[in-house]
Amino acid sequence: MSTLPPCPKCNSEYTYEDGQMLVCPECAYEWSATESAAATGDADKVIRDAVGNTLQDGDTVSVIKDLKVKGSSLVVKVGTKVKNIRLCDGDHDIDCKIDGIGAMKLKSEFVKKV
Ligand SMILES: [Zn+2]
Repeated sequence: MSTLPPCPKCNSEYTYEDGQMLVCPECAYEWSATESAAATGDADKVIRDAVGNTLQDGDTVSVIKDLKVKGSSLVVKVGTKVKNIRLCDGDHDIDCKIDGIGAMKLKSEFVKKV
């Protein structure tokens, strides 16, 4: 039998499934099993570099391919070290500052943890 989460209201362990819902027999509270699963998945979001290392705020990474800087003629050269990255949401999931270029965003798939 799969382990069901305890009741969010009274913490009872005797919850059971009723279709898509979870039900607590002690306080009669009902909640959606899929909702709580989705919420957990979100909190576990992990950003990985090109080779699968987990990235964290404050990490130093190196760029693995030449990257054009949007709206300028600057290029971040392959091998450029980027210190003190900050993870963020979105298509470009790394916020950083690069010497000689300034603040910009990178994609985690184009960097490697140093
Ligand atoms: Zn309950």
